[in-house]
Amino acid sequence: MMVVMKSGSSQAEVQQVISLIKSWGLEAHLSQGEERTVIGMVGDTRKVQRELFLHYPAIDRIVPISHPYKLASLDFIPNASTFPLDGFEIGGEGIVVIAGPCAVESREQMLETAHAVRSAGAHALRGGAYKPRTSPYAFQGLGEEGLEILAEARELTGLPIITEVMAPELVPLVAKYADVLQIGARNMQNYALLHAAGESQKPVLLKRGMSATIEELLMAAEYILSHGNRRVILCERGIRTYETSTRNTTDINAIPVLKSLTHLPVILDPSHSTGNWKYVTAIARAGVAAGADGIIVEVHPHPEEALSDGGQSLNPNRFAELICQIKSIAAAVDRSMAPAKVQGCV
Ligand code: PEP
Ligand code: MN
Repeated sequence: MMVVMKSGSSQAEVQQVISLIKSWGLEAHLSQGEERTVIGMVGDTRKVQRELFLHYPAIDRIVPISHPYKLASLDFIPNASTFPLDGFEIGGEGIVVIAGPCAVESREQMLETAHAVRSAGAHALRGGAYKPRTSPYAFQGLGEEGLEILAEARELTGLPIITEVMAPELVPLVAKYADVLQIGARNMQNYALLHAAGESQKPVLLKRGMSATIEELLMAAEYILSHGNRRVILCERGIRTYETSTRNTTDINAIPVLKSLTHLPVILDPSHSTGNWKYVTAIARAGVAAGADGIIVEVHPHPEEALSDGGQSLNPNRFAELICQIKSIAAAVDRSMAPAKVQGCV
């Protein structure tokens, strides 16, 4: 349920309504747009005494939110949410490209990749220091040493860092180094982790679980938003289907569907959704054409030597070509590339 205030309501009038909502033990989430001010009520709305609203003349109307997710809903915030990330904006008109290796393997590998993706036109750098691997015997990531290497890569390139956090107790440590916390597909419904990421107030890249519905993804986002952390980016990364010719099946539908349901930025990961570098560029193009706000893509200086996900990683030349191709697609759908440290494909 949400309260829509009359245009021109004063801050004091808004605060009075917020106090009333809180007096019922509910949370009040404020969305102050240019055209309208909305207060979302979250909690047990059976406690709402609707007749008391009649005493608040600045209230325009009370509107139910029909979805189980509230704060993620376009009903609550009717325009696309955008937020700045070190020099560029995500969720706006410009397409954002996040690139880097699946895992931080060594200082040399990470720095070489960081420089290569920066010169090709990437906006941000990815790389896992804590890796969720199917096998406990596979490379698990360098842990804090990997985070230190990422911090050095940011220092040298100016690119913000996106890296995965796998456990709630690791959130403070990873948040110390990262600009954006990544919550991976396998942890999309790790509610303790979602709470901790919400509390951190850091931007969060939330990946769709491989068997999660779109509604479940939005409900997972709701956990983070419910802590007042508004900086959530959703990521489609492919779902499990009966098809075995690719690692996952890119649910391209999810992009326009999410855009019709939520104000949050939506990006596509064509690397995990295909599992094969040969298809990555085509699916990245499809993502931008379908309305994604960006792409997160795995790039390795020597994919054949990668310790994880080498088969789906682009080498730097192929990545530079991907940037050129999505730049053309962006123009075809009346968008552009967000300003990068180095403008790619000129
Ligand atoms: C990753 O980004 O390297 C990763 C493990 O992705 P996902 O959680 O989507 O499988
Ligand atoms: Mn990977």
